[in-house]
Amino acid sequence: GRSESALLKLIHASKIYAKNGICALNAVDLTVQDGDYISVTGASGSGKSTLMHILGLLDSLTEGEYLLDGAAVAHLPAKQRARLRSEKIGFVFQQFRLLTGMTALENVALPLALQGVPRHERSERALAVLERVGLSDRANHRPHQLSGGQQQRVAIARAVVTEPCVILADEPTAGLDPMGRDEILDQIASLHETRGITIILVSHSMEDIAKYVERLIVMNHGEAVFDDEPKKVFSHYKELETMGLAAPQITYIMHALKEHGLNVDADATTVEEARDSILAALKASDSPLLKEGGAEK
Ligand code: ADP
Ligand code: MG
Repeated sequence: GRSESALLKLIHASKIYAKNGICALNAVDLTVQDGDYISVTGASGSGKSTLMHILGLLDSLTEGEYLLDGAAVAHLPAKQRARLRSEKIGFVFQQFRLLTGMTALENVALPLALQGVPRHERSERALAVLERVGLSDRANHRPHQLSGGQQQRVAIARAVVTEPCVILADEPTAGLDPMGRDEILDQIASLHETRGITIILVSHSMEDIAKYVERLIVMNHGEAVFDDEPKKVFSHYKELETMGLAAPQITYIMHALKEHGLNVDADATTVEEARDSILAALKASDSPLLKEGGAEK
């Protein structure tokens, strides 16, 4: 069945931090299939990073089970966790965490060195992934010679060079300007589309989530309270607000238009969907707006 073949599976996963007794994950059930592109959102302190640490084998569960590629890994000793981590997990963190004394190529090749891959093969593979993120001409630059977006693309190349089975990206666009942000999200989307890489992306931007992902998990006080298509989750915008979150602004506009009698699709979440739905509704209602405004050409 699907559950046996799941790439990642959490079963009633709980994490209580011993040092302060905080329950950061509370009986979370989660199934990720190979090739999924999932976003995780939630207010600050809701447990998103803890979830990523658990999935990425950086930490162990207090209770419950974690099946990675079918193997139970929740309670492995730290050493075995580390080995599995370097084989199977690619991380992209919020801060770029590139080594400043190394070139882009050396940074990307580093995880291969840790795996004992021979030197010439390391450079070859590192160069190939740098090319994939559009930076082969920057291979010999050091991090300070690159823009924020470029640095984060190097970090993405470093995360994929070992051919992990999942990329865990925890707020990878935080601190980037809008161009750098689009650069990174487009890069991640393209890895997903062209290579079918499984991606779990922590994001605060509902607009980005609406645009890029197929599935959205909402964390609240350590619980996964929604796990569905973004559209379906956003229709619960009033509940999201009680968690300190909000739907995309488009959701509010569409609901307001609908309340005012325009027969639009209130589930539209991107600007393009909203435009199409508003134009169609205006056309159907034979609105004078279309004739005067000339929006329809
Ligand atoms: P988010 O990423 O959604 O902001 P976190 O997973 O970082 O949430 O944190 C969830 C809760 O666990 C918070 O109350 C936080 O203070 C606590 N927490 C996170 N990491 C640790 C840690 N290493 N030790 C103790 N408490 C932690
Ligand atoms: Mg966090």
